[in-house]
Amino acid sequence: MSTPRSAAIYARISSDQAGEGLGVRRQVEDCRKLAANLGWDVGQEYVDNDLSAYSGKPRPEYLRMLADLASGVRDGVLVYHLDRLTRRPRELEDFLEVLDAARVRHVRFVARDADLGSGDGLLVARIMGAVAAQESAAKSRRVKRKMLQNAELGLPHGRSRRPFGFDDDAITHRPDEVAIIRELAERFVAGESLRSMCTDLDDRGIRSVKGVPWQTHSLRQVLSNPRIAGLRRHNGQIIGKAAWEPIIDEDLHRRVLATIDSRKVSGRRTPRTYLLSGLLQCGKCGRTLYSSRRVDSRRYVCLSGPDHRGCGALTVVAPPLEQLVTDYALFRLDSPAVADAIAGRGNADAEASALAAELADERETLDYLAEQFGTRRIDRRQWEKARVPVEGRVQTLERRLAQITRTDALTGLGSGETLRRNWSALNLDRQAAILRTLVASITIAPGTRGAQALDPDRVQVSWRL
Ligand SMILES: [Zn+2]
Repeated sequence: MSTPRSAAIYARISSDQAGEGLGVRRQVEDCRKLAANLGWDVGQEYVDNDLSAYSGKPRPEYLRMLADLASGVRDGVLVYHLDRLTRRPRELEDFLEVLDAARVRHVRFVARDADLGSGDGLLVARIMGAVAAQESAAKSRRVKRKMLQNAELGLPHGRSRRPFGFDDDAITHRPDEVAIIRELAERFVAGESLRSMCTDLDDRGIRSVKGVPWQTHSLRQVLSNPRIAGLRRHNGQIIGKAAWEPIIDEDLHRRVLATIDSRKVSGRRTPRTYLLSGLLQCGKCGRTLYSSRRVDSRRYVCLSGPDHRGCGALTVVAPPLEQLVTDYALFRLDSPAVADAIAGRGNADAEASALAAELADERETLDYLAEQFGTRRIDRRQWEKARVPVEGRVQTLERRLAQITRTDALTGLGSGETLRRNWSALNLDRQAAILRTLVASITIAPGTRGAQALDPDRVQVSWRL
């Protein structure tokens, strides 16, 4: 193994170690002796006075040494003991990174052997191991660390393509796309399907950042991404506020996520063509009715067999039933009963606001902790220890918020003629979402009338609102 052309000696006296008599002079002398034994040429001695490695105060000579190592002016390091160099894991990582990047392979500690096996000895062993490590490992660690560092600062991580809604810097908003994201998030929580919104975007000639038509999964990614709520995610966890402005507020973001969750449960994949799917119950056996298209008509039927386990003995024709239920629903929507019900949701809304405020507090705590860590006032272990309980509370609060029933689907519908006009302009997804908000279930009694007619007495609606 070659010897360094121009090694650095680093020494530091710190108040916490003053009693040990490890004066700077002794440290430097011992390092010089070791250099002579090893046959190393020493280029420069770097000495910081009375600055603790714990305090986080800048150590100008240490930083100067790092710079000289990074630039290749120095290619070896001699230190009396690891505790002269650093004791904080974060700083150790910085040091290792500089060694890796500059391919410095020569690092020695005077007091190395005395401590092997102790905590510091393990760190020394780690440094020695890192010095010998392969370039690929160094590169991967640099990349990972860079990503984490960016995440902690709330900066975007590197990407091949800009995110929808943002410029290439992934920070500056694009007003036209921002407007689209806001609009789509509102429509989504109001009950419209991703598929229907994709079709709409296509009709309007709006493309994804790849320049291709939207697909449900790409649209879901955009709408569910915490980045549009101004939150920074790293390895699947929200670690604080991002450096960019939010496009939608956190409340809407949570409702989008809750909507995605609830649709996962229903597992509906095909576009809706039947307004009342899932709402109808067989008046004979109590099972759910299924849509069924015959050559001449659309129907809802009770299905027997192992998959459905209904009685198979009930059928109702779809169009007049859908018309009847729509009439009921519009009447209901326009009634004082629903107005009262929505007003009565004041309680739930107040609870939601209280939960949202609590959630904002906890998020602020997470931001504060991330900042403390980012500015090195706490180390990674302290950060993680403090973070875990807060994150647990955040999750609980988010769950409780998602459980509070919302009346999103009903907002902005208007009343009277406006309501009727609005209703017919809505697509099937929105109409169905409104019905799901209003109606708990609809029971269809057995009937005997002709195939295309419906006896209104067969229809019994159980209202939710
Ligand atoms: Zn049945």
